[in-house]
Parts: sequence; C-alpha cells; structure tokens
Amino acid sequence: MNDIKLASLKNKQRTTIPVANVTFGKDLVIIAGPCSVESEEQTLSIAYAVKRAGANMLRGGAFKPRTSPYNFQGLGLKGLKILESARRETGLPIVSEVLDTRDVSWMCEYVDALQIGARNMQNFSLLKEAGKTNRPILLKRGMYSTIKEWLNCAEYILNEGNSQVILCERGIRTFETYTRNTLDVSAVAALKELTHLPIIVDPSHGTGKVSLIPAMSLASVVAGADGLIVEVHNHPEMALSDKDQALTPEQFSEMTKKVRALRAFIEGLN
Ligand code: PEP
Ligand code: MN
Repeated sequence: MNDIKLASLKNKQRTTIPVANVTFGKDLVIIAGPCSVESEEQTLSIAYAVKRAGANMLRGGAFKPRTSPYNFQGLGLKGLKILESARRETGLPIVSEVLDTRDVSWMCEYVDALQIGARNMQNFSLLKEAGKTNRPILLKRGMYSTIKEWLNCAEYILNEGNSQVILCERGIRTFETYTRNTLDVSAVAALKELTHLPIIVDPSHGTGKVSLIPAMSLASVVAGADGLIVEVHNHPEMALSDKDQALTPEQFSEMTKKVRALRAFIEGLN
C-alpha cells in the first residue's frame, strides 16, 4: 500500500468530521432515509420518523444510478429542494448522491455531505471535483473493488485538498446470489489498521434483504464501524427503488436501540 500516502494511517491522527451536531470518527453516526426522494410527503414522513428513532442524518437520492434507463431516475433538483425542506423541518443534515461532475458544485448548496456511489467510485473526474469542495464526501466502495483501489480513490479526493472523506462499505459482488451483495465486514477492521479516515457500513445495499439488516448492523458495530447508512421507507412495498431492502420506521427504530446499546457496551470494554 505504498502509494497510499494521504489516506494512510501511518504517522497520522484519526480524522474526525463534524456534520451539524455529530462527528464522524467520534460518535456512532446513523444515517437513514429513503433510497430515492419520491415526494415531499414521503420524504418528510420518513425524515420525522427516523429523527424520532434517533437517526443523526437523512439520506435520499435525487439522482439515481439505475441499472435500466427505464427505471425511476430520481427527481433531480426538485428532490434536492424536498431534502432542503426536510432539513428545515427536522434539523437533520442531508447526504445525497452526485452522479455527474457538472452537478458537484451547485449540489453543495443543498446538501451537507455528497455521496459518491459504488458505480462511480473510480470516476476520477468526479473524485477530483469532489476534492475541490468543502463538503464531506461519503465514498462508497465499488462493487468490484479491492480495499487498495478504494483507498486510492479516497487519495484522489484528499489530493485535491478536501480532507473530509468518509468511507462506506456497501458489499461487493461474489458468486453468492442469496444476498444482493456480500457485505465485507472484514473491510471495516482492515481499514481501521490502514487508514485514519472514518468508515461506515451500508447494510441495506450490502444484503438487499430487510431480514438481514439488523444482524449486519450489529456486526458492523462490533467490527468497529463509525456509523451506518440505512434505507427506510414509510411504505416499503410502494418504494420506487430498492423496496426489498427498505426497513419500516418501526423496524429501524427497534434496530437503532440495539445498535446504540451495543456501541455503548463496546465503549465500556475499552
Ligand atoms: C444508494 O445509496 O442508494 C446507492 C445507489 O448505493 P450504492 O452506490 O452503494 O449502490
Ligand atoms: Mn438504494
């Protein structure tokens, strides 16, 4: 890993990244919300519910990277305006995915953190643009990427002067088909010895199945994750994207209690 310079843990303090009133790398940051922003009513309802359940940040895609061009592509600017009103109403900071270099700078006016998704992890132009902003960047692991390739992508952002990179393990493709992806929990522990950057886990895309999300969230906390990003929908069966992996607000609330209790227990051991 000799080419990993800025992201490497060697001779460096662990990075902490404050967003509103939580800090990545210090607090257990729980991000929750719909896969896609679908309407104001849907987003506000979910935002209030996840806030009540103890989420620290709201997620929601306004630009969606869909496998088929005929699937819902997101509401774009309208979606970002809906997220802005959800932040105004609930106080939750917002993270949303940027797909295109042309959208990086203006999107910063709407979001507290930018997400670079798995499909764009190695979009080097996008990484460089993100590196020129002053927003935290949630960098998801590419579905076919090694830890080293992933760290090199973080390096691209850091090298442009943006030191606020949060890594997100979201599962990789393997020969297994029961789960949507294979959640690489070992990557969390591995990254703790390789990098000073905070690392969070996405058990929603990591499994693709509601039934597996609570167990994988707990496992992630045990592995040392600095946070979670979880998909939640007020009517999962009607979600316009990723409905099979959307928790109801009740399921999310239940899970969050266990996750927070486990984190407190682990902190007590140290
Ligand atoms: C998402 O967070 O909705 C998403 C598309 O995630 P990923 O890039 O990990 O597939
Ligand atoms: Mn999704």
